[in-house]
Amino acid sequence: MKIILVENYEEMSKEAANFIIKEVKANPSLKLGLATGSTPVGTYKNIVEYFQNNTDLTFKNVVAFNLDEYVGLSGDSPQSYKYFMRNNFFKFLDIEEKNCFIPNGVATDIENEAKQYDKLLEKYNYTDVQILGIGNNGHIAFNEPNFTLTCETNIVDLKEDTIKANSIFFDNINDVPKKAISMGMKSILFSKKILLIASGENKAKAIKEMISGLISTNNPASLLQLHKDVTIILDKDAAKYIL
Ligand code: PGA
Repeated sequence: MKIILVENYEEMSKEAANFIIKEVKANPSLKLGLATGSTPVGTYKNIVEYFQNNTDLTFKNVVAFNLDEYVGLSGDSPQSYKYFMRNNFFKFLDIEEKNCFIPNGVATDIENEAKQYDKLLEKYNYTDVQILGIGNNGHIAFNEPNFTLTCETNIVDLKEDTIKANSIFFDNINDVPKKAISMGMKSILFSKKILLIASGENKAKAIKEMISGLISTNNPASLLQLHKDVTIILDKDAAKYIL
């Protein structure tokens, strides 16, 4: 794992944006895995700023795959990840809507939706670069700590700590969906490169466990130790226990 240490959230966001911009420039047909949550907001903002002020970056042929979506929220719901992606990233770029994939949280047959998402990932031969955040509890996408993990895209029961952490995006904690559809660790680990970003002291324990803990499904982030090309951009607070 390659670790890039920066001062704060702003620097993390700039560094991560530069990483992605470089990848897209090198391969304009990049298959880009995207994450949601508070961590990547600044990264997307920096990419958008670069895109708007320069002519040497295009997303016309980029294919985007998102990690997850809440079950029960449609793309019109402001808390859905589809809405998040549109309003924080896609609408500012020249990316084609037909190239932006995200699981459908309101599919009538949600199990089948999960299967189809995997088929799509397989058809594209998975992503070239996958952006990841990390949960305070070590979850990756919505793959929550557990005795066992499903490797395919699957329907996940969210843990109490995840519901609590994500309640900042909702008016009321009771409004946070209890289930999500999440890319499994297989497709995540099949990405050619992984870029994980983390900021803040509340991530410090999960970061230490991810880097030096035993590999265990009770700590999904630890599975990233098995991947040969992971870059981690951390601010000082998130790196507190590894310095
Ligand atoms: P956050 O979530 O960016 O909102 O902290 C990260 C995650 O849960 O993966």
